[in-house]
Amino acid sequence: MIYPWQTLQWQQFCQQKIQQRVPHAIVLLGAEGLGKRAFANQLVATLLCEINDAIEPCGQCHSCHLFLAESHPDHIVIEPEETGKQIKIDQIRKLKDKQELTPTVSRWKTVIISPADSMNINANNSLLKLLEEPQPNTLLILITAKAEKLPITILSRCQKMIIPAPEKEIASRWLQQQTSFSEPDIAQLLPLAHGAPLKVLTMLEQGVVSTIEQLKHDFDSLLNNDINPVLLAKNWQQYDLLMILNILQNLIHKRIVNDQKQLSSESTERYWTIYDCIITAIKLTSSPNNINKILLIEQFMVSVMNVNLRYNTANNSSI
Ligand SMILES: [Zn+2]
Repeated sequence: MIYPWQTLQWQQFCQQKIQQRVPHAIVLLGAEGLGKRAFANQLVATLLCEINDAIEPCGQCHSCHLFLAESHPDHIVIEPEETGKQIKIDQIRKLKDKQELTPTVSRWKTVIISPADSMNINANNSLLKLLEEPQPNTLLILITAKAEKLPITILSRCQKMIIPAPEKEIASRWLQQQTSFSEPDIAQLLPLAHGAPLKVLTMLEQGVVSTIEQLKHDFDSLLNNDINPVLLAKNWQQYDLLMILNILQNLIHKRIVNDQKQLSSESTERYWTIYDCIITAIKLTSSPNNINKILLIEQFMVSVMNVNLRYNTANNSSI
């Protein structure tokens, strides 16, 4: 399936196919939730389809049936054996053995490696050898949202195809066609998902809209000193920490913008200081070191409460 924000990249591929200039390796780049895998599947199905000049799979031929049944003998998918684990050298070695065979049903042999950044060093080296000796009518597709984790030697041997996040309006319109959620609900999730519509769809299904409401309520209670921060920190453990911080960052940013519109500088300064606390916590969360989640949430709450204390004392003493 090709999503509305992928048309340009799709046309580029079709052009290459018509002109018989399909590369031997493509790396599909773009954030999570942009439908890279669906794009790769459509590309593979089109190549494998028995209709010679197909620019989309016919869905009727033997090859298309095999592909839809996920049992096409000329197509291989390499993924970690368990989610979050590495792709091992043995998996790439098996691929090497298969690559030496000729296709059985289609004119092409295709491989999808996803996520390509999960290959370990040995797997990378083994793949590099394959890329250095490309086989005729063979296409390797590497999929990754973390290109920085792939060695330059591999990246430089693949044609780069970037799937960008769509314009806000396109994403919003598409999402409104897929769900019954309102435009404001979608609009508040889009920045959290870095503009990736499929990520928003997952977030909507996971009930993130009501999580946001709960977090707003909790955070206001914290600002008003109406809640025990230790209990709140324990409660927040159920959420993804980076997601909480991004939600709060958006919330505070909105309030700063609002304050500035109303020329109310009193609370703006306090919000900027809290904004700084959020940025610090985001940096800590994103660092490669293992972090103690509950400790980080508690520290964050203490820093917010300290800001509160400082501004309340300042206001009281100025009265
Ligand atoms: Zn077909």
